[in-house]
Amino acid sequence: MSSAPRSICRPEIGPDKLGPDKLREECGVFGIFGNDEAAAHTVLGLHALQHRGQEAAGVVTFDGRLFHNHRAVGLVGDHFSSEAVISALPGHAAIGHVRYSTQGAPLLRNVQPLYADFVFGGLALAHNGNLTNALALRRQLVEEGCLFQSTSDTEVIIHLIARSRQPSVVERLVDALSQVEGAYALVALSGSALYGVRDPLGVRPLILGELDGAPILASESCALDIMGARFVRDIAPGEVFTATASGTESIMPFPPRAKRFCIFEYVYFARPDSAVEGQSVYETRKRIGAELAKEHPAPADLVIPVPDSGVPAAIGFAQAAGLPFELGLIRNHYVGRTFIEPSDRIRHLGVKLKHNANHATVTGRRVVLVDDSIVRGTTSTKIVAMIRQAGATEVHMRVASPPTTHSCFYGVDTPERSELLAAQNDLEAMARIIGVDSLAFLSLDGLYRAVGGTRRDARQPLFCDACFSGDYPTQLEDLGRGGSADQLSLMLEDA
Ligand code: SF4
Repeated sequence: MSSAPRSICRPEIGPDKLGPDKLREECGVFGIFGNDEAAAHTVLGLHALQHRGQEAAGVVTFDGRLFHNHRAVGLVGDHFSSEAVISALPGHAAIGHVRYSTQGAPLLRNVQPLYADFVFGGLALAHNGNLTNALALRRQLVEEGCLFQSTSDTEVIIHLIARSRQPSVVERLVDALSQVEGAYALVALSGSALYGVRDPLGVRPLILGELDGAPILASESCALDIMGARFVRDIAPGEVFTATASGTESIMPFPPRAKRFCIFEYVYFARPDSAVEGQSVYETRKRIGAELAKEHPAPADLVIPVPDSGVPAAIGFAQAAGLPFELGLIRNHYVGRTFIEPSDRIRHLGVKLKHNANHATVTGRRVVLVDDSIVRGTTSTKIVAMIRQAGATEVHMRVASPPTTHSCFYGVDTPERSELLAAQNDLEAMARIIGVDSLAFLSLDGLYRAVGGTRRDARQPLFCDACFSGDYPTQLEDLGRGGSADQLSLMLEDA
């Protein structure tokens, strides 16, 4: 092994018990104001953000008199491709959302944007993230008589806005968000304005773009590229952005806090053709791969990526190591997601359905296999077996992030710690479970070098790296895994 074994040494968990093997970003958001084809552009934006949530999608528009909405469980392309749906969403302003559900079946009542009629008129909201005090706030609101229609954290914000005594919509929004803790990138649409807000830590991304004078808000810049819109800037942590017919304005109403942008966006979540926080994701991933090669070289003939997410890091690794980069695994892009497959037996074949070893490349060769991260280890185990069966003489796995040892509570679907391979096993045990000749992870310092920051340096902005370090940037109040509101809902049903 080329790096020191971690000291954690607990009973091994076997791959057979394990489920889906990536952290899953839970949402993507989009908004546009002052464009006659607001719905069509929002659908395009959601197509580009589909990687951030594939279980449900929704769009709300405002036509100057009425709000219109269409929300559905499924992919954007399944529900927003017909002219009939788009023309039923008239208006010059729109917001949209794609999401994963955190527990159980995705229910239509949870699909965002959520809409409510307030004393000042209608308001639709959608957010990416997770409120770490949502359960406590929700319990308090229920005790005070609020009726909840969904288990979404977004509805907590809606009730806080409704109860606010502030005079304007934006002041009510600020009043509500002052009471929440956690991560959110939020878009909202009233009868007169589009709003975009990022939490004071800036954990989740939100950018500002522009198309023919119409401001656009989106989770990632790839949502601008798809429609030829121009990137303007990142919405700043703690910024409340407003676009109206009179123009745009921003305020910074929250007490400033040290920035903690999610470092995992660079590792895996964001699309490689996006730029987040001013950096190309693709170039950052190549730098991550180069750092990995410097820290953990491997005695091999070629470098192969686990497609698609391991590709940029593998290119960076190969270039830094002076080794050939080859496609030793071919991905079938036409296979559905494993969790919708019809039976356990077929689900178990998921990796074989998605990937196939390229015999011509790996037979008789020593390979370095590069992946972005290891969560449960199930996929890695199957892929390594596949490469060996194809005739590789040695398989050295290099992981372009530190061991994932902690769950995320900021809008990412993460397994319990007991299911995280690196939380339960030391390096040697992990290598044995996965079946590799050697295994190494990028160090946290190496990751920080690649993304351009210095860990724990007060002069530099910090990232959130809690899933690697356990150093959570907020209090974790009263929190259940996978969504506090889901947990409360179950509690209420039990009662
Ligand atoms: Fe991102 Fe990990 Fe922090 Fe969650 S815990 S916000 S995945 S860095």
